[in-house]
Amino acid sequence: MLFEIIDILRRGVSLRCPCCGYGRLFKTWLRTHDHCQACGERFEREPGQWFGAVYVNLGLSVLLGLLGSLVAGLFVPLSLSLLLRVGLPVSAMGPLLFFRLSKGIWTSIIFLGEGLYIQWPNR
Ligand SMILES: [Zn+2]
Repeated sequence: MLFEIIDILRRGVSLRCPCCGYGRLFKTWLRTHDHCQACGERFEREPGQWFGAVYVNLGLSVLLGLLGSLVAGLFVPLSLSLLLRVGLPVSAMGPLLFFRLSKGIWTSIIFLGEGLYIQWPNR
């Protein structure tokens, strides 16, 4: 069970279909396919579904800013103002950097909650 969950999340991180792992989630850099090209799984079950990806993106962006600041602080003593001047722009880049990754992870989370349409073939 744990390995299945890890495998489904790995498929989301690699921007693949959480159901089969073969179909690509994105057809362009910004737009997702409506359904999997390999197994037919529908990626968007309802309008507004991607709103949850915003929270995933926010968490990843904050994590990037915190880890970036901590790592930089290991090598250079940082004042609070320097930390904010470096950490905030790095965190502001997060939503762009993690746009696709957050959608992939969110799709996997929805699939784990059985929110997508067709049954998983392994069940
Ligand atoms: Zn698929």
